[in-house]
Amino acid sequence: MLESLLIRDETQFIAVGDVFTVILCVMLISLFTITYVSKDKVFRMFQAMIGLLMIASWSDLLWHSLIIQGNSSDTLIYIIHFVFRMAILAILYIFSCYTIELMYLEARPRKASYTYINIGLVLFISTEIITAVTGTGFHRIDAVYFTEGYSIFRLAFIYYIGHCIYLLIRYRKRMVTKIAMCIVAVFLLCFLIYAVQMRHGQNSYTVITLTLPIIAVMYLLHSNPYEKSTGAVGESGFDHRIREAYSRKQELILMCLRVQGFENTNSFTPAMRLEIFRYFKNIKKGVLFRVNGRLVMVFPKDLNPDYKNVVQKLCDAFDVLFEKFSYDFKAMFLVSEEFLNKDNLYPLLYDFMESRVPYNTYYWLKDSDISDFKMQQYVISQLEDIAEKEDLDDERVIPYSQPVFNVSTQSYDTAEALMRLELPETGLIYPDQFIPLAEKYNYIHSLSIIILNKTCKMIKKYLKEGRKLERISVNFSMQELRDDNFAKDIIDVIEKNDIPYSMIAIELTESQNDEDFELVKSRIEELKTYGIKFYLDDFGTGYSNFDRIMELPFDIIKFDRSLVIESAKDESSAYMVNTFAGMFKNLKYRVLYEGIEDTHDESRCIEMHAEFLQGYKYSRPIKMEELDKFLSA
Ligand code: C2E
Ligand code: CA
Ligand code: CA
Repeated sequence: MLESLLIRDETQFIAVGDVFTVILCVMLISLFTITYVSKDKVFRMFQAMIGLLMIASWSDLLWHSLIIQGNSSDTLIYIIHFVFRMAILAILYIFSCYTIELMYLEARPRKASYTYINIGLVLFISTEIITAVTGTGFHRIDAVYFTEGYSIFRLAFIYYIGHCIYLLIRYRKRMVTKIAMCIVAVFLLCFLIYAVQMRHGQNSYTVITLTLPIIAVMYLLHSNPYEKSTGAVGESGFDHRIREAYSRKQELILMCLRVQGFENTNSFTPAMRLEIFRYFKNIKKGVLFRVNGRLVMVFPKDLNPDYKNVVQKLCDAFDVLFEKFSYDFKAMFLVSEEFLNKDNLYPLLYDFMESRVPYNTYYWLKDSDISDFKMQQYVISQLEDIAEKEDLDDERVIPYSQPVFNVSTQSYDTAEALMRLELPETGLIYPDQFIPLAEKYNYIHSLSIIILNKTCKMIKKYLKEGRKLERISVNFSMQELRDDNFAKDIIDVIEKNDIPYSMIAIELTESQNDEDFELVKSRIEELKTYGIKFYLDDFGTGYSNFDRIMELPFDIIKFDRSLVIESAKDESSAYMVNTFAGMFKNLKYRVLYEGIEDTHDESRCIEMHAEFLQGYKYSRPIKMEELDKFLSA
């Protein structure tokens, strides 16, 4: 019944385990305070566990030493012993919570796990109290202390750590399995130490067994090491720092530096490192982060009230530094803003600003930069929404159109579809404000398909009205052709609208990417079998590769406005453009000139083999439903 005789022989208790735990905890706390650590919810759990470890080891030392002294009251010894037990129980409990969070369980197993550990908590605490009060647990007979509660405690140890091991093994696929298994191994090590000390009838190592998993998990999952070469903390640390500022409503100063040639390699020359570190010294609570190849110094505004001065001095120092090392750099500074902090938009903001910030100057972001960025973010979110909704009639996507003049028939019988967006917060916006973004974030195909659908609808209407219209060409981006569904998507939309395939043409801009060539060719050939015509857009702007152009079955070559302008410059330029056009014509391509603005452009281009003319001289892009003004009935 009275299971193990705990303090029968005082020499059995060796304080080294507890003392060692205290030392470890002090070390961990010092490391946390001196260096940068992401202070998220999980980190708070660590802090709590380390605090509890301190309490546990101190109280263990205390109640043992009180017994050894021999003149303390039983009540005091009971209380301190109770504190010890509760502290360890709490550590086990928190560790279980941590493991549950770690596994990202689904609602049901998560709820079951919490129920399990909560029931355990109530059970173990009440047993501890009942056994203490009834004198069946930790108690004294004459001068000897017995601890029946020890077996209850052993049960708790197995109950919680066993549960953690169970979760880690059962759901190991939900995290990097290697990491899960490492944590399991450390838990097993805990059991081993626990069993060994059990065998020797003393408990000084109990607390230290619980320090091990904490250290293991910190190493495996929460270490955010400094880059050795720059002293910067990694990107996830930056993310946490920003979120922390957001939740605390803290204002930060962010200084971003990108040194040309150091985006990917982490190493500055040793001399450069020494100098860079020197300049950061005067900044209070400043932390250097590595964000997307850039270095970002972040420091709280309130602790550095003369931050403008600090920054200025730093810039002066950098001037000398960079002249000496002759590296080009881009530097931009700003005071944090709540909406940027909320979702940590800084990496995006820095990318956005990259082209606006000149080299080798110190640039404080202007309000207009921020508002432009905000607008861009808004456009991206709208594009995402349009792409997600997959509504072919989405009202935000507006088809505009520019009629094309046919030189031989002297009439407008084709047109180009041009996209505009009408967004709730911006009103009408033009392609240069959204096409590059849509391409970058892969929303472009959704937009193109909507324009195609709306174009088909208009064509159907004009057909019904008996207007003379050959086709409307729709712009597609080269990257859309990579999609295996490209041809099918187009055919589906045309079929759904029940118009002849030949009334749709596709405009593509020449790609410099050779890899895509075969793919592009096969897609074009596939669609051509339906009678869809292809336009080569913007001829004369890229690095035109004639071999490649000839191999692709284009029908119409669109000479870019830059060639129209070029041809007006002098004889030899005109000769060049004319030669290109003549050559295409001989090869059975048809030539269209874009950007015809006046009668000079017009007559010159007609001389240069023009079959089609398009430009402001005839019409600016108009709403597609107004195209009927140009189409004869
Ligand atoms: P693009 O395909 O080369 O379209 C011709 C652009 O030149 C149009 O600009 C048009 O308004 C403009 N333009 C027409 N006539 C003249 C002229 O006489 N003088 C001058 N200076 N410019 C003229 P817009 O509508 O702003 O479109 C710009 C670009 O955006 C287009 O260039 C095209 O690359 C892209 N884009 C437009 N709509 C779509 C679309 O539905 N899908 C895709 N992927 N891209 C589109
Ligand atoms: Ca075009
Ligand atoms: Ca063009």
